[in-house]
Amino acid sequence: MEHDKDGAKPEQSFQQNADGKQGNRERMNLDDVVWAPCPKDGYKTAKIKDIGATDITVKFSDGSPGVFGYDDIYPTEKDLKRTVDDNCALMYLNVANLLNNSKERYINDKFYTYVANILVAINPYKNIKGFYDAATIKAYKGKSLGTLPPHCFAIADKSYRDMKVFNQSQSVIVSGESGAGKTENTKFMINYLVHNYGSGQSSLDAKIIEANPLLEAFGNAKTVRNNNSSRFGKFIEVHFNEKHAVDGAQFSHYLLERSRIVSQNKNERNYHIFYRLCAGAPADVKGALKLQAPEAYHYLNQGDTRLFGSQLKDPMLNDKGDFVRTENAMKKIGMAKDKRMDVFKIVAAVLHLGNVEIIDGSNGGAEVTPKGIPAINAAAELLGMDATQLIESITTRATKIPGEATLVKKALIARNAIHARDALAKALYAKLFDYVCELINKSIPAGGSSFIGILDIAGFEYFENNSFEQFCINYCNEKLQQFFNKRTLKDEMELYKTEGLKTKGVEYIDNQDMIELIEKPRVGIIDVLDEEMKLPKPLDSHFAETLYNNHRKNGRFLSPRKSPVTKYKALTDSEAFILRHFAGAVCYNVNGFVDKNTDGLHDSLLQLCATAKHSILVKMFAADAKRKTGRGKLQLKSNGSTFRTNLNILMEKLNSTGSSFIRCIKPNEKMAPQEFNGASIMSQLHSAGIPAVLELMQAGYPSRTHFSDLYGMYKKHMPAKLSKLDPKLFTRALFQALGLNTNDFTYGVSKVFFKPGKFAAFDQMMNGD
Ligand code: ATP
Ligand code: MG
Repeated sequence: MEHDKDGAKPEQSFQQNADGKQGNRERMNLDDVVWAPCPKDGYKTAKIKDIGATDITVKFSDGSPGVFGYDDIYPTEKDLKRTVDDNCALMYLNVANLLNNSKERYINDKFYTYVANILVAINPYKNIKGFYDAATIKAYKGKSLGTLPPHCFAIADKSYRDMKVFNQSQSVIVSGESGAGKTENTKFMINYLVHNYGSGQSSLDAKIIEANPLLEAFGNAKTVRNNNSSRFGKFIEVHFNEKHAVDGAQFSHYLLERSRIVSQNKNERNYHIFYRLCAGAPADVKGALKLQAPEAYHYLNQGDTRLFGSQLKDPMLNDKGDFVRTENAMKKIGMAKDKRMDVFKIVAAVLHLGNVEIIDGSNGGAEVTPKGIPAINAAAELLGMDATQLIESITTRATKIPGEATLVKKALIARNAIHARDALAKALYAKLFDYVCELINKSIPAGGSSFIGILDIAGFEYFENNSFEQFCINYCNEKLQQFFNKRTLKDEMELYKTEGLKTKGVEYIDNQDMIELIEKPRVGIIDVLDEEMKLPKPLDSHFAETLYNNHRKNGRFLSPRKSPVTKYKALTDSEAFILRHFAGAVCYNVNGFVDKNTDGLHDSLLQLCATAKHSILVKMFAADAKRKTGRGKLQLKSNGSTFRTNLNILMEKLNSTGSSFIRCIKPNEKMAPQEFNGASIMSQLHSAGIPAVLELMQAGYPSRTHFSDLYGMYKKHMPAKLSKLDPKLFTRALFQALGLNTNDFTYGVSKVFFKPGKFAAFDQMMNGD
């Protein structure tokens, strides 16, 4: 996430309770070493020099002074080099110590750390020997969380054991910004499950593992943030039979980025498959597809190519070798040679379409230039269409004249014809992606009495310019954040209640109001956008004005004019709107919203696709062609409302499962190992809701143990007489004998609960180290 330099600071959804703040105040003494905020490192140690009524003056080690509020200063651990696997074992559980613990671990190649059951994974950007190998996969099998060092395998195994013990499907929500490591962790966990709990049928296990690289060939691309960035979200369910062995899988995908198919930003690429096909296909296939080198194609040569020389080749990527791997994955999921060729024909046709040059002709209408003719001929041939019809469908539009029965063809101006050409390319590719996913799902049985679902979807996004794509992903993250709150915070409070513990509640701001602002029928943003789409002349500006009129009094909605950020103040309510998300305020530029929401093909192009002589194409477009109404207007489902439906289905699924969370963090912008950019990591931890979890835990009892477990662990240290007591009485007698401070722990119904760091202290006392 990129925060705005002008200071649109993310708002936190949780507020520390008054006691937490007071606690800080009591602990401060002159000359104490504390953590103080630092714009570069997140937090830095400093010495307290003055304690005022409202703020504290400190001196950093370089001699520079700083003045901060009480809430911004945190006590440090005694030993700043000592690290703990679970942040809950810190003596002073706060964000600054968590950051330091993570850093000390990270630079020593321990890039996984827990916060209770949440796994924080900081991308190592290097392969650490043995970290994910067969021996490690075996080692984590059947081990409780915390027995071995933190690892995504431990989360996968917990999910597996919970699925068995509670007889309930499980989900793992992997989140984080682009390049944080979501997809890698997802793949490692699938590998883990299949290797430890596989079906024993090698072909099924291989299909489940190979499906991911295949999806990546079509849905991943090189971006400035990640050389292998997933431009879609996915939920992978690994299915298990009654004996808890893998017996199938299902893949759902969300929000493929469509704009990339026709244009890319500087230093970015289109989807991998285009380059792989150009670089790796055998000569006969290339000949049949009429393919040249990538730089010959408009859809591939728009990103700045300076970095890659004339070959549009990224030195980090091996397009040729990857083509072989992609084709092998296609074979593994059962795609025969002709099917593979049909897929490649669509991929190549998209490239040829991009080279169809269109200009305004002498008669005023759009015309394909002589240079564009071979390209359109090639596209038409590969798609099984008539070239003349394809040209006509791209350069004209059939409209209905009131009172007349037949449709009249109207010439488009070049700009609109280019738009139609691009819309066709996007529709072809997006449908092809759906088709590949469908093939994967068909080739792998969906069986299973239960499943472990892994969600790999982009985290909260905030860029220089935010559009419909960011709006959808942030809407998704609001829903996931609510789920996370519910599971971690509400569950924690529930547990305290059922265990009969008296703790002060942590107030938190529920984001239901934001979710309603987006998805509520009729007035919510998605429906307002759909209504705009149905108007005779839909306009982005009119959509924005309607939003402003509906929601200007909503606290989550902000007019750019009223933004504290200078550059937004210049924008009008017809140009942009601001949403105050849980992770920070984001300004959305409405330009392109209506178009991106529809992304539909006009009637004649749709009919052409649905009647093409191409086995896959006809299937891909059949449903859309059927949805056409008698009045010639298409009742296409909008992208926004389709996503709302799919997201709600996903949320229902997540709600019915037990859940675990992996928060992936990107350590630096350079994609380099060992560089720990504290400030950016702190901001990502905020977006991941981690400080809120800490506050809850700090206010309560982060460590807890069953009386029976405690009894099992320590009875060997006790005289025989004591060990005859039942576990609860045993615990009471033990604590009394040790003279433990009663403020440090409390007894629940089935467990004993410790204040932060106190269990570790007790354990050390018992084990004498
Ligand atoms: P996006 O949202 O762009 O898809 P992502 O969160 O899925 O990003 P990944 O593709 O998983 O990010 O990771 C980016 C890169 O970081 C990987 O290609 C790999 O080089 C490196 N990486 C991530 N996780 C690990 C890991 N656990 N060990 C080694 N390298 C890793
Ligand atoms: Mg990814």
